[in-house]
Amino acid sequence: MDMDQRNRQMEADDLGFIWHPFTQMKDYMKEKPLIIEKGNGVYLWDIYGNKYIDGISSLWVTTHGHGRREIDEAIIEQIGKISHSTLLGLSHPSAIVLARNLANVAPEGLSKVFYSDNGSCAVEIGLKMAFQYWLQSSKGKNSKKKIISFTNAYHGDTLGAVSVGGIDLFHEIYSPLLFESIKAPSPYCYRCHLGKTYPACRLECLGRLEEVVSEHHEQTAALIIEPLVQGAAGMLVSPPGYLKGVRALCSKYGILMIADEVAVGFGRTGRLFACEHEQVIPDILILGKGITGGYLPLAVTMATEEIFNGFLGEFDELKTFYHGHTYTGNPLACAAAIASLDLFRNDRTLERMMENIERLRQGLRRFRDLKHVGDVRQMGFMVGIELVSDKDTKTPFPAGEKTGIKVILEARKRGLILRPLGDVIVLMPILNTDAGALDALIRITYEAIQTVTEA
Ligand SMILES: *Cc1c(COP(=O)(O)O)cnc(C)c1O
Repeated sequence: MDMDQRNRQMEADDLGFIWHPFTQMKDYMKEKPLIIEKGNGVYLWDIYGNKYIDGISSLWVTTHGHGRREIDEAIIEQIGKISHSTLLGLSHPSAIVLARNLANVAPEGLSKVFYSDNGSCAVEIGLKMAFQYWLQSSKGKNSKKKIISFTNAYHGDTLGAVSVGGIDLFHEIYSPLLFESIKAPSPYCYRCHLGKTYPACRLECLGRLEEVVSEHHEQTAALIIEPLVQGAAGMLVSPPGYLKGVRALCSKYGILMIADEVAVGFGRTGRLFACEHEQVIPDILILGKGITGGYLPLAVTMATEEIFNGFLGEFDELKTFYHGHTYTGNPLACAAAIASLDLFRNDRTLERMMENIERLRQGLRRFRDLKHVGDVRQMGFMVGIELVSDKDTKTPFPAGEKTGIKVILEARKRGLILRPLGDVIVLMPILNTDAGALDALIRITYEAIQTVTEA
C-alpha cells in the first residue's frame, strides 16, 4: 500500500469507526477529516505532511511543546520500571514525588493530593469531599448538602460535573439526570447582567453573589468556581478583585471554596496557578489538563489538612473517602507530570512568557477594529475573540451560520489549528511559543476572521 492509499484508507476508517466528542457527526462526515500524525514543539503535521501551528495547545493541555525530550525520557524511564500499579492500598515513587512537589508549589496549606485521571472526575471528587466533610463534622446533622456554582460555568461532562455546570447549550439536555445546584450569576463584563461597566461598577456583581450566599449558606457545603477565567463559556475573564471577593464571602459564610483550575492551572494565566494573581487560597484545588505537560491523562484534587483530618476515624465510623478510579495516579502519567513541573523551573517558563503575553496583547489590539469583533478577552495565554453580527447592539450571528467554525477552517487553510467555542475564537498558545510563531498565529487569526466575516 503506498502512502496515498494508506492516507485515504485512514480517512475512510476515521469516518467509518470513530464517534468524535462534541461533534455533530453529520457535519463531520461531509468533510475530509484532518488527521494529525506528528508533533514537535508548537507544530503539528497531518498525514500528508502539512504543517500547522498548534494554536490551542491540543485542546488546552500542551505546556512545553510536543515531543519535549525531558518528558519523553521520564516516561520511557518509568516504562523501564513499571507502567501501572495501584494506589488503592499500595503506593509508588512517582505518585509520592509528584504529590510532594505539587504541595510545594500549590497555594499554601493545600498539602493533600488525591489522584484521578481526568478533570471531570477530579471535580466529582472535590464535590464529594466537600459534602462528606460537612456530613462528618456536623456529626450527622448534615444540613450542608448544596453546592453553589455559576452561570456559564464548565466543570466537565460527567453528571456531577454537569450538575454544577452552567452552559445551557451542553447542559440543559441532561437536566432530568442532574442534582440541583444553586446558581449564582457569573461576571461577563461584555454582557454584564447588571448593565454596568468596569471599573465604575465597583464590582456590584459581588454584592449580588453575597445575596445568594447569605440566603443559602446554611444549606451549602461549597462554592465551585473557575478562577479568573470561565474557559469553555468563551474565555470570560472576571474583573480584578472578583476572585478575592469570592474567597472572602466563602470564609465569611462558612462554606468551602473549590477552585477548578483544570483549564487555568499550570501557567496558562502567566502564573503557575490562577489563584496566585489575587493571593487566594481555596479549600480544595482541582488540577488536570496541563498537569502532565499534555502527555498523559492525570488530574488531582488537593485539599487542606483540615479537610483531610475530617475523614480520619475508626474503621467502623465509616469516615473513609469511598472513591477511587482504576487508573488513579498512573505511574507513567505521574512521571510525565514530575518532568513537566521540573521544566517550569529549568526553562524559567513563566518568566519567559511575560514578554510574549505582552506581545500577544499588542498583537490583539487591532482586532478591535474589525467590523465583527465585539470583544477581545485575554488572561495570559488564554484568549477569547467574540464575533458578533452587529457591534453596536452586540447581536450574535445566527447560530446556523457557524461563523466560528468557518473562521477556524479558514485558519486551517493558512496553517493554524484553532477550535472555536460557538462564535468565540479561542487562542491558547503553547506556553513556550516563540515570538515568530506567535506573530504568525496572530496574523493568521486576523486574516481568517476578516476573510470570513467581511466576505
Ligand atoms: C476541561 C475542563 C474540565 C474537565 O476536564 P476533563 O479532563 O475533560 O474531564 C473541568 N473543568 C474545567 C475548568 C475544564 O476546562
